[in-house]
Parts: sequence; C-alpha cells; structure tokens
Amino acid sequence: MINKLIANTLPYMPKKAVWILSKRYVAGKGIADAISVVKRLNKRGIKASVDLLGEFISNMDEAEKNMHQYIEIISELAKHDVDCNLSLKPTSFGLLIDSAKCYSLIRQVLAYASLKEKFVRIDMEDSQCTSLEIDLYLKLKEEFQENVGLVVQAYLKRTYNDLSDMLLQAHSVTTPLNLRICKGIYIEPAYLAYKDFHQVRHHFLEDLDLMLKNGIYAAIATHDPFLVCESFELIRRYGVPKEKYEFQMLYGVAPSLRNKIADSGHNLRVYVPFGKDWFGYCSRRIKENPKMVNDIVKALFVRG
Ligand SMILES: Cc1cc2nc3c(=O)[nH]c(=O)nc-3n(C[C@H](O)[C@H](O)[C@H](O)COP(=O)(O)OP(=O)(O)OC[C@H]3O[C@@H](n4cnc5c(N)ncnc54)[C@H](O)[C@@H]3O)c2cc1C
Repeated sequence: MINKLIANTLPYMPKKAVWILSKRYVAGKGIADAISVVKRLNKRGIKASVDLLGEFISNMDEAEKNMHQYIEIISELAKHDVDCNLSLKPTSFGLLIDSAKCYSLIRQVLAYASLKEKFVRIDMEDSQCTSLEIDLYLKLKEEFQENVGLVVQAYLKRTYNDLSDMLLQAHSVTTPLNLRICKGIYIEPAYLAYKDFHQVRHHFLEDLDLMLKNGIYAAIATHDPFLVCESFELIRRYGVPKEKYEFQMLYGVAPSLRNKIADSGHNLRVYVPFGKDWFGYCSRRIKENPKMVNDIVKALFVRG
C-alpha cells in the first residue's frame, strides 16, 4: 500500500526526490553518464545497449533533433570503445507523423552506426506501430543486414504469425533475423493481447522456440526467473551456440538474477536508459511496478 501511495504521489514530489528514487534505473542525463555505467558493466563482462529517453514528439523538427542526438551518441560510443549498441523508438523519429521521413532519419542513424560498427535495435511500441515497425525493420534490413534488429512482444496474439511471415520474407536476405523477445509493456485490448500471466509466459516460450529452431538471433529480454530457466533449457535442447543468442535485462532490475546469468557463462546485455527526459520514464516505470519502490528504498541503504 505504501508503495502504491508513493507511486501515485510521484507527480507532486520535487524532481530531486524522484531522482533519488530513480537513479538506480537511469544512468543519468547525458551520454557521459551512460558511458560510465556501460564501462562498469563491461568490466563485469556484461554488454550494454543505450537508449535515449524521450517524451512523445509532436513535429518533425523534434524528430530531426533526435536523429542528430543519436549520431552524437554513436560517435561518443565509438570514441570510448565500449561494448555497447543502441536501441531506438521509431515514434521519436516521427513514425506516426510522417513515416517516409521517419524511415529516412533512421536510415541516416543506421548508416552512421554501420560506419562505426554499431548495431541498432528498433524497440517495439504499442499495437498501432506493430505492422509499421515490422515493415520498417525489413526494409532497413535489406540495406543494413546484420546491423539492425527488431523486438517482438509475446503478449500480442499476432506475434507467432508475424515471426513466421518475417521468416518467409527475410528468406532472400543473406543474414538471419535478429529479434529481441519480451513480454510487452503497453496496455493493449484483450482482442489483441493475452492478458493472463501464464498465457503470456507460454507464448513467450512458443515464440522463442520458433526463433531458435529457425536460426533467428534471439535476444531474450526478461527478469522472470521461470522464463530464464526455460530459455536455458531450449538453448540446451537445440544446442544453440553462444553467438546466436543473448539475455537482456533493464539497468537496475533484478541484479541477483543478472549476476546468475552472467556467471553461468551466457551473454548478457543490459539496457541502459539515459537523457534529460528521465522524469517521465521513471514516473511511468514506478507507477507500472510499485514494487520498484522496495528495491529503491533498499538501494538507498544497502551499498553494492
Ligand atoms: C532489455 C529489455 C528491453 C525491452 N524492450 C521492450 C520493447 O521494445 N517493447 C516492449 O513493449 N517492452 C519491452 N520491454 C519490457 C518487457 O516487455 C516487460 O514489460 C518487462 O521486461 C517485464 O516483464 P518480465 O519478463 O521481466 O516479467 P515480469 O513478470 O513483469 O517481471 C519479473 C520480475 O522482474 C521484476 N520487474 C520487471 N520489470 C521491472 C521493472 N521495470 N522494475 C523493477 N522490477 C521489475 C518484477 O517485479 C518481477 O519480480 C523490455 C524489457 C527488457 C528487459
């Protein structure tokens, strides 16, 4: 109850107080903060993916600004020689305002990323974006091959068919698909998405099974210990080599599970958000999962 109370009063709390609650989950405001977190993770043998936090955009000037910011981020990552790729959200590049221009802006990011040998993953957003983002990925993949990836969401009823379609469509392309599988974070209607916790888990594993059987590079993004164990089992069953999969987790979430995965020799990547818009991101995450407050309070008192 206390957690819920804290979560609900967030909008009225001073930003400084919310930052104390949030800093465990966000690297900081600038790319320098993100790079120092990435360096710490890399030292521990953990890879990273940085994500520039942003609020919803309302015009293409903001989209263009985001493109330039991503170019700067890539340049900094390359300068520091860190084991880190990038994640981006197409709506920050104007997907729902001008999809052709959005393609061209993301294409520019990818061209620069390829030059600097950086992989870019397209995050999956809410269901109005699903088809648009799959099309965007397949089109970009024709040009950038293994340097670009997408995300699929196990809670969407369409995902298994989407995977089968993508396998068919990508058949002519020489490099395999590269997909992050996650449960899905947006609130979707029941006719589109499974609502039952166990059903989502079941479809997560069904989708992952299809991915691994068909040579899709799988980025397994979850903090759910059951799914991690079942994924280990699928990887073992199909004899999937280390260069064909990785686990992914969010910065600050479930560190003991994270260490367990890393210590057992699997590749692990941590998603590191940063940016001036940290406040909106953290308020939403804490509202979605008031249990985060427990973790945060613990982090205030327990070091290391
Ligand atoms: C690397 C990464 C990338 C993602 N990218 C996308 C994306 O592109 N599109 C999309 O829709 N979703 C994305 N997600 C979110 C994902 O869809 C889930 O909503 C989220 O990971 C929670 O699901 P879970 O599998 O961890 O299981 P859950 O059952 O939700 O959680 C398992 C355990 O982890 C804890 N936990 C989970 N999330 C958090 C959190 N944020 N803070 C504190 N504790 C937490 C829970 O309390 C629980 O104990 C991503 C997740 C990760 C890890």
